[in-house]
Amino acid sequence: MQPADTPWLQLSGISVAYGRRAVVADFSLTLPRGAVGCLLGPSGCGKTTVLRAIAGFEPLLAGEIRLDGALVGSARQQVPPEQRRIGMVFQDHALFPHLTVGANVAFGLRGMPDAAQRVQHMLETVGLGGSAARYPHELSGGQQQRVALARALAPSPQLLLLDEPFSNLDIELRERLGSELRQLLKAAGTTALLVTHDQHEAFAIADEIGIMSGGRIQQWATAYDLYHQPANRFVADFVGQGAFLPGTVQNGQHIQMELGMLDSPEPIRCTEHGDLCDAGCGVDVLLRPDDVVHDDASPVTAEVVAKAFRGAEFLYTLKLASGQTVLSMVPSHHNHAIGERIGIRLEVDHVVAYKREDEPALDCG
Ligand code: ADP
Ligand code: MG
Repeated sequence: MQPADTPWLQLSGISVAYGRRAVVADFSLTLPRGAVGCLLGPSGCGKTTVLRAIAGFEPLLAGEIRLDGALVGSARQQVPPEQRRIGMVFQDHALFPHLTVGANVAFGLRGMPDAAQRVQHMLETVGLGGSAARYPHELSGGQQQRVALARALAPSPQLLLLDEPFSNLDIELRERLGSELRQLLKAAGTTALLVTHDQHEAFAIADEIGIMSGGRIQQWATAYDLYHQPANRFVADFVGQGAFLPGTVQNGQHIQMELGMLDSPEPIRCTEHGDLCDAGCGVDVLLRPDDVVHDDASPVTAEVVAKAFRGAEFLYTLKLASGQTVLSMVPSHHNHAIGERIGIRLEVDHVVAYKREDEPALDCG
């Protein structure tokens, strides 16, 4: 029995390579018991490789993997996958086509005395209580994925790994299954690590999210903090929408920009490194679509170059005099034509700014 604060899943500095090519390098993360974590990142950044290493399918070059404190993988020691008690759900649900739904769910329960009850309970949990005798091909894609989930959860795994579980499904079903999955994991108290390239899926399911790029975690945080306090430009760009606009810090609490002066209630710090930005410091300011407000009375205007109808709002892409573009979310009764110029001003609650690397700053703090 481990102390209560022992992380349930702990990866410490793991590295994984295919041949000579390292695709995951010095990668660490920690999940407490019952937490739902997510790795979110572009295709090819190493998400599946991390899951395969946790499951025991890829050897480690360096680092350690621990489950409930017990070492299951290191460069020297590999507990075989079948002894790790880890459940997996993949994108292609890979049910056995010649077995009934019930037999599929029972697959990992061979020899267990209460297997039949457990199968029925799991099928009811995923909303397929009456389907035990049916065959996978008689079910829709979403139903098949629920069966795959029931099969993975049936043996009460120590950890559930989900690799893009809904990406073959249409978007509406994906969203519904996403929030159902979260409820199910929370009700069962299952610790899970999900992998996806879809941020809405990550937001709907996970407690905490790791943004990955190039085999590394760029930031591990809640969805809210990733959006509002992105640790670097990659995260700012990858999570949510927005644009970077250059500015020059004046008096430590103001940034002179093409859209006017941006005032901050606090001294301006580089969001990436946390250091203060003194007068004259060049920064790139992150502007989310709700930071740029349409205002007919504003002296600053921009040209509508693209617009997307979102129901309650339009998302306008606006070109400034300098040629730079920003995004603006505007209530949809303000229906402006492409090519029209509209007044805009800044309304920024908290400043997210990154020091410009091309201006190594004489007087930056
Ligand atoms: P993701 O799941 O984020 O899309 P992967 O973990 O599948 O990324 O892949 C990471 C990198 O490793 C990619 O460049 C991919 O081409 C490469 N890769 C994945 N699997 C193998 C393999 N079995 N052999 C060689 N290279 C691989
Ligand atoms: Mg993958």
